[in-house]
Amino acid sequence: MGNDNQHILTKTLMVNQMAFHVQFNAARIRSSAAKTDAASIAQRPCFLCKENRPPEQKSIDWNGQYEILENPFPIFPQHLTIPTYEHTPQQLQGRYADMLKLAVEMPEFTLFYNGPHCGASAPDHMHFQAGSRHFMPIEQQWQERIGEHLAVEGKARLHIMANDPRNTLVLIADEAKDAVTLFERILKALSKPMVNVLCYYENNQWFTFIFPRTKHRPSCYFAEGSEQMIISPASVDLGGVFITVRQEDFERIDNKCLENILREVCWQESTINTFKNNNYART
Ligand SMILES: [Zn+2]
Repeated sequence: MGNDNQHILTKTLMVNQMAFHVQFNAARIRSSAAKTDAASIAQRPCFLCKENRPPEQKSIDWNGQYEILENPFPIFPQHLTIPTYEHTPQQLQGRYADMLKLAVEMPEFTLFYNGPHCGASAPDHMHFQAGSRHFMPIEQQWQERIGEHLAVEGKARLHIMANDPRNTLVLIADEAKDAVTLFERILKALSKPMVNVLCYYENNQWFTFIFPRTKHRPSCYFAEGSEQMIISPASVDLGGVFITVRQEDFERIDNKCLENILREVCWQESTINTFKNNNYART
């Protein structure tokens, strides 16, 4: 694939002793500043439908259901977009099993899913994405932060990362069917279906990171003048690679600002307590 990423600048920030990389990637403005309200979506041709894609963009069939495409505005050394053939709304319910199968067949990649109002720039067309493994810091960080165990289903269990401003849920599974049952229970237990999800397969186990969201975009996105930062967190940002699309935002963002953004868009204590007390999540 070999994308030219030489123009991209990076720096590293720390929140609660965890590293977050910040990437300046101007081409991502199409995604970070995408208008995803229903009216704007209805007015534009869907860029994931085959008839609207450039004819030179190659695709690989997956299971007769999805196409695997190269992402034209990569964040990762290798970055793929995996839309369904059908133009059907972005929704993970009933499709997590596909994500698990893709993860097995693509061991060099971490699969990810951005929910509507959580960073998906095509909320009207179901798609996963995939990026090079070992690129997002969370793939290492979770191991030292594996906390309290919240739920079990057969050979799948759910944990929450400790001392993590994102309060990441970590689902570890030896059996796909148990993972799916547990995952569907989690989706039902969420008060609203706003999530970002990462998943990879390693040593016969699936590792899934679920980031329940309270907000689409942080208040700095809507601020005016020099207070504004065009930062619109999605799966990759929460996985530890924050995308900035303007150089001034890249320069200005610091540890405290990043922590505030995480706390603003992710679940906080009261929501977690509600989730823990919810019967769907209990074993
Ligand atoms: Zn479409």
